Amino acid sequence: MQLPTQLFINGAWRDAASGRRAILVNPATEEAFAEVAAADNADVNAAVESAHQAWESGWRDLAPGKRTEILFNVARVLWENLERIAQLETLHIGKPIGDARDEAGLGARVFEYYAGAITKFCGQTIPVSRGGFDFTLREPMGVVACIVPWNFPFPIACWKAAPALAAGNCVVLKPASLSPLTALALGELAHAAGLPPGVLQVLPGSGSAIGDALVTHPLVRKISFTGSTEIGRRIMELASRDLKRISLELGGKSPNIVFADADWQRAAETSPMSVFANTGQDCCARSRIFMERSIYEPFVSKFVESTRKLLVGDPTQPETQLGPMVSAGQRATVEEFLADARKQGSKFACGGGRPGNKGYYLDATVLLDVGKEDRCWREEIFGPVVAITPFDDEAQMIREVNASPYGLSASLWTNDLRRAFRVSRAVQSGVLSVNSHSSVHVEAPFGGFKTSGIGRDLGMAAMEGYTELKNVYIAE
Ligand code: NAD
Ligand code: MN
Repeated sequence: MQLPTQLFINGAWRDAASGRRAILVNPATEEAFAEVAAADNADVNAAVESAHQAWESGWRDLAPGKRTEILFNVARVLWENLERIAQLETLHIGKPIGDARDEAGLGARVFEYYAGAITKFCGQTIPVSRGGFDFTLREPMGVVACIVPWNFPFPIACWKAAPALAAGNCVVLKPASLSPLTALALGELAHAAGLPPGVLQVLPGSGSAIGDALVTHPLVRKISFTGSTEIGRRIMELASRDLKRISLELGGKSPNIVFADADWQRAAETSPMSVFANTGQDCCARSRIFMERSIYEPFVSKFVESTRKLLVGDPTQPETQLGPMVSAGQRATVEEFLADARKQGSKFACGGGRPGNKGYYLDATVLLDVGKEDRCWREEIFGPVVAITPFDDEAQMIREVNASPYGLSASLWTNDLRRAFRVSRAVQSGVLSVNSHSSVHVEAPFGGFKTSGIGRDLGMAAMEGYTELKNVYIAE
């Protein structure tokens, strides 16, 4: 398979101006397999300038029908190349191929959704009191920087780029250093599908090297970021200087709340993948389970039994459910959390070690008796680790849920309709599902409360976030 290994600027491949390259390592085999150009500040300037030029010279003013046609064509080309995209995703981050195929399809569906949205995205006419005619316009901003993480590289790149482009902006997409391949493929395929040169640039490179230059570039009008709360804060600070628009999708410590009246067996069977999928490297991972005490013990034993059945192994095999972690460094970070859990006297119901001796694998780990002040209870671990705790009182449990500074996602299991409404309202979380673990729907807003972020991806909310709202008044 041919790998995309250069920067993609103005519709063409090129090396980094500095000539610098970064090595990619396959996390399942620990083997270096490619070198990819690593952008520098000079490349940031070139990418932003060509995006700005493409915006001013056509994309901004393209007829909505034409933009719709192009983005539908991008979706079609993504579907046609689904297998290649999935293989690249598995290669650079060790994502199980079945998941990688699903996520490649999700990216294509996002382009379809926003291609269709272009002609349904309208302003208002407003009966202002002084008479005359008043209406609103949703106008594109210009150049949007989309900065994405390594855990869901392709779908997140798509769900930022597609609405930004649909709204009439041009994009500079920066993938994480560990996962440049599928973003580069997106740039190439989108242009092959008819996107004019410069409308979408892809700049692989390290965030610490080019992040500041990209965020503070005067022609970048909006930064759409998904990643850690720490970097999100830094971007918000830098963006404040020029009042740049931001949307930030950040970390989480999401609860999974199970009441005794629920179908708790089904909850116990499905909950392991709500935290261990993607080897726990998921902002929505339900990493804190709150169990009503009367079913705590049977739930824990069923949960552990289901966890032990998960198929860990070679991510290129379609039956594999859990692959390796993305890097040695990410695994080491998670192992520090496990060392802290040992020190604090938490009980390991299963896991805690490494399966095999090749690849950055880590066991799916279930912790019990985790103190409410311990790191494993309070901080985002971003690995295959869950803490389960019993509760007695609904109101007190909700206070503990909401004590987290995060508020991204939540699951709630109950068959009591009134409780489902009451608890759904009480939990401070951008996304919540009842008797299910799904967090992401192409058509619905996705994002966080509190330190989990600002702004929303997906749905029509994302499209609004890539526009300025203009009001026009015409006197009689
Ligand atoms: P990260 O913050 O380290 O990196 C994210 C991106 O930011 C990467 O492209 C990185 O290169 C870039 N970056 C790094 N330093 C930068 C800087 N100074 N300026 C600009 N960009 C910079 O996050 P990660 O380790 O790649 O991903 C894991 C984190 O992402 C977790 O905290 C996870 O919860 C979060 N996440 C959130 C969501 C969500 O939708 N809320 C989705 C996925 C991941
Ligand atoms: Mn990181």
